[in-house]
Amino acid sequence: MSEYDADVIVAGAGFSGLSAADALVSAGFDVIVLEARDRVGGRVEAMAFADGVVMDTGGQFICDEMPNVMALARRFELPLAETPLEGAFLIQPQSFAGTGSSFAEAGRIRARANRIDPRDPAIAGLTAGEWLGRQSDPPGAKASYQAMVEGLWCRPVGEIPLWYLIDNDRRTISNGNELQYFAEGTIHAAATALAATLGQRLRLDTPVAGIVRKKDSVAVTTGKGDVLTARQVLIAVPPVMASRIAHEPALPEPLAGALAAWKSGTVIKVLVRYERPFWRDRGLSGMIMWRDTLGLFACDVSSIKAVALVVFVGGPLAVEWSGKGRAFIEVEIRRRLVEALGAEATDVTGLMIRDWVDDPWSGGGYSDVIAGLRSYDAEDILRAGVPPVHFASSELAPSFPAYIEGAIIAGREAAERVIAARQSAVATGASGS
Ligand SMILES: Cc1cc2nc3c(=O)[nH]c(=O)nc-3n(C[C@H](O)[C@H](O)[C@H](O)COP(=O)(O)OP(=O)(O)OC[C@H]3O[C@@H](n4cnc5c(N)ncnc54)[C@H](O)[C@@H]3O)c2cc1C
Repeated sequence: MSEYDADVIVAGAGFSGLSAADALVSAGFDVIVLEARDRVGGRVEAMAFADGVVMDTGGQFICDEMPNVMALARRFELPLAETPLEGAFLIQPQSFAGTGSSFAEAGRIRARANRIDPRDPAIAGLTAGEWLGRQSDPPGAKASYQAMVEGLWCRPVGEIPLWYLIDNDRRTISNGNELQYFAEGTIHAAATALAATLGQRLRLDTPVAGIVRKKDSVAVTTGKGDVLTARQVLIAVPPVMASRIAHEPALPEPLAGALAAWKSGTVIKVLVRYERPFWRDRGLSGMIMWRDTLGLFACDVSSIKAVALVVFVGGPLAVEWSGKGRAFIEVEIRRRLVEALGAEATDVTGLMIRDWVDDPWSGGGYSDVIAGLRSYDAEDILRAGVPPVHFASSELAPSFPAYIEGAIIAGREAAERVIAARQSAVATGASGS
C-alpha cells in the first residue's frame, strides 16, 4: 500500500482538472480531485428556470474545429443544437449602422493585428489600446474592434498587451464560427458525466488552501484544515486563483512572477426566454452588437427545448453594470432588446442573470488575461511548473485558450507532464512507494 493518500491530487474540477483526472485515471494513477465549489464544471455551469428548463450560464458554444470537446459530446451522447445564425446582424443603436462600425471592419483590424509578430520589438511595451490609437481606420471601425476585444478578452484594451492579444488570438484557430453549436441538455452535462466516472475520487466543497512541496511529494492543506499527501499535485485552476494558494517553500520567483502577471476577465451572461423567436419574422438572426456601450452582444440560443437569446456584457461594462446591481441589469437588457427587436421583446417569459465579475473561484470572465506588458514567458513558466507541483487551465492551452476545448487540451497536456515526471522518478529510483 502507498504511503500517500494518492499518486496525484488535482485541485479544481473544471474541464482542465476533470480532463487531467480522466487521463491520469486511464493511465492507472490513483487520483483525488479537490473542488472548492459544491459542483463541478467551474466556468461551465448550468442553472434551471422556474419551468425546469436548464441552460448553460457559463461556457456554452462549441464548434467542429474543437475536436476534443466535440469528442466529449459524442462520448456522453449529448444532443447538439446548431446555433441559429441565419438572418441579419443588428448594430444598435440604428444610428451606428453603416458608419464604419461593422463587424467586418473590426475583423479587418483584427487580421492586421494578427499579422504582427508578437515578439516584434516595435510593439514591445505597447497595449492593444495604444496600438489601436495609432491606426488610421475610421473611428467607428476602431470602436467596433475595441468592442470586440473588450467583449472577448473582457479587459479594457488599454490593459491588454498587444503581443498577448495577438499571440492568444492566433491560437484560436476556428474560421470564426465558434458559436456553431450548443448542447441542448447543456455542455455542463459533460462535466457532470466526467465527474461521475471519478466516483469517490472527487471531493466537492474542498478548496486547496496550501501546498507543502518536498522533492518527491506534496502535502496539501484544504480549506477545512485536512492535510492530504500525494506524489504530485496538479493545480487546475485559473492563474489568478492559483496565485491565492499558499506555498511552502515559497514558489521560486519566476513562477510567482508568472502567476502575478494575470488579471481576471469580467463578464455577465444573461439568458432571456420568449415564447417564440419573433425576431425571425423580420429576417433577423437575433445577433445584436451594441455600439453605444462597448462590450454588449446578443445571440439566439433557441432549440427544441426553449426559445432564448443570450446577452453577454463583457469587459469594463460588466464591472460597471455589476456595480449597479441585478435590477439595473435586468431593466437595461429588457429596454435594449425592445429598442432593437420591437415591442414583442417585452413579452419575456424568463430571465436569468449570471454575474461572473466577482466569482470567488474562477476569476470573472471567459479567461484570465496577461496584463504584464513584458510577461512573455508567463505561460511557459506555468506550464513547466515546479515539479512535483504542476499547473493547468484553459489559459495555458496551445489552441483555443479561454475555451472549453482549451481547458481539455491543457488538462491532458498537464496529465502527460505528471505521467512523465512519475516515469522519470521511477527510472531514477525515487519511486517512494
Ligand atoms: C460566461 C462565460 C461564457 C463562456 N462561454 C464559452 C463558450 O461559449 N465556449 C467555450 O468554449 N468557452 C466559454 N467560456 C470559457 C470556458 O468556460 C472556460 O475557458 C473553461 O471552462 C475553463 O476551464 P478550466 O478548467 O481551465 O477553469 P475553471 O472552469 O475555472 O475550473 C477551475 C475549477 O477550479 C476550482 N477552484 C478554484 N480555486 C480552487 C482551489 N483553491 N481549490 C480547489 N478548487 C478550486 C473552481 O471552482 C473551478 O471549478 C465561457 C466562460 C464564461 C464564464
